[in-house]
Amino acid sequence: SYDELKKSTNNFSEKNEIGSGGYGKVYRGMLPSGQVVAIKRSQQGSMQGGLEFKTEIELLSRVHHKNLVGLVGFCFEQGQQILIYEFMPHGTLRESLSGKSGIYLDWKRRLRVALGSARGLTYLHELANPPIIHRDIKSTNILLDENLTAKVADFGLSKLVCDGSKGHVSTQVKGTLGYLDPEYYMTQQLTEKSDVYSFGVVMLELVTAKQPIEKGKYIVREVRMAMDKNDEECYGLGNIMDPSIRNTTTLIGFGRFVDLAMRCVEESAADRPTMSEVVKELETILQNDG
Ligand code: ADP
Repeated sequence: SYDELKKSTNNFSEKNEIGSGGYGKVYRGMLPSGQVVAIKRSQQGSMQGGLEFKTEIELLSRVHHKNLVGLVGFCFEQGQQILIYEFMPHGTLRESLSGKSGIYLDWKRRLRVALGSARGLTYLHELANPPIIHRDIKSTNILLDENLTAKVADFGLSKLVCDGSKGHVSTQVKGTLGYLDPEYYMTQQLTEKSDVYSFGVVMLELVTAKQPIEKGKYIVREVRMAMDKNDEECYGLGNIMDPSIRNTTTLIGFGRFVDLAMRCVEESAADRPTMSEVVKELETILQNDG
């Protein structure tokens, strides 16, 4: 119950606050069983009729996968909306790429993070019933567990795919600037390929450690321009590559990885691979590690 939860989590005290986002504040807590959890508490009245909350619960209660952050429980009381997730001790991918979490991801680890999150997304797209489009894939929604396994989080913006014969749903555009599929933005026709675009941007973050938009520059355009120069040093990316991986002796499958990322961020959704194709290619890249 709410009261038990409040007690068992130190009344959501400020010292246990670990972050805040679009949804509200996030606290670290411990359940009576000893399990450490992340507790997301919505700011009162921040949501339209609690619809977003209900959507998230309904989706999450149905979805279980190694590469998706698990929902441990939820409650709905006293005007508070509370979601309890598995705690991810190594924080977000963004934090580790910007050197804030103290977790250094070498190139191989980055390949595994890409593969793990691609598997989580493939599950949402192809195995969840009904299929789920995440709609807000970004490096702050990819969390790392104690083994540095990547898990996709935050289904607050997810929406069930309609059964309609057109195979897509038309909705208000949602998502995060810098990750937003340009075709979806123009047409407002949402498909799984919009997640593929956002995922491609995350792949480019893994290569450059840059944010999708930095100092008014878009990462996708920067990488495209750098590749056009074709100076043959690291695929032309020598200048915008993450310095901390630049001096690594072997960057297995680097060229293939960048090519795959660039296919994911094609302007036209039809030219992008599906997430399961992305998984296959990433598996091949990792297997070729001599
Ligand atoms: P947003 O709404 O911007 O996606 P969230 O509300 O999902 O942000 O999360 C805010 C912050 O809380 C994250 O950036 C992360 O640092 C932390 N966080 C969220 N979920 C978890 C979790 N399951 N385990 C550990 N930390 C988490």
